[in-house]
Amino acid sequence: MPEAEIPEPSPRDRTTLLRLHARQCRFVVSDDGPAALFCGAPTRPESSWCPWHRRLVYMRAPTQGAKAGRGFVLPDYGSAKDRRKDAK
Ligand SMILES: [Zn+2]
Repeated sequence: MPEAEIPEPSPRDRTTLLRLHARQCRFVVSDDGPAALFCGAPTRPESSWCPWHRRLVYMRAPTQGAKAGRGFVLPDYGSAKDRRKDAK
């Protein structure tokens, strides 16, 4: 039996670090310094991530030479904004 489809967590579950509870996914969906947003979707008791991000993390996680602090995989939300200088 193939793995059941895992629904993508709702953006409405997203929350900040201060509001993040023990059973909420701590996957960073928007790394914006103090205002960083976490997934916040419900997790299983033994997991730090919701099923969706747990699968993502485990897929991305290297099996060798894993370094501490490199567990998060940040999606590219266009962090490099094109700011034009107002030069004449
Ligand atoms: Zn999640």
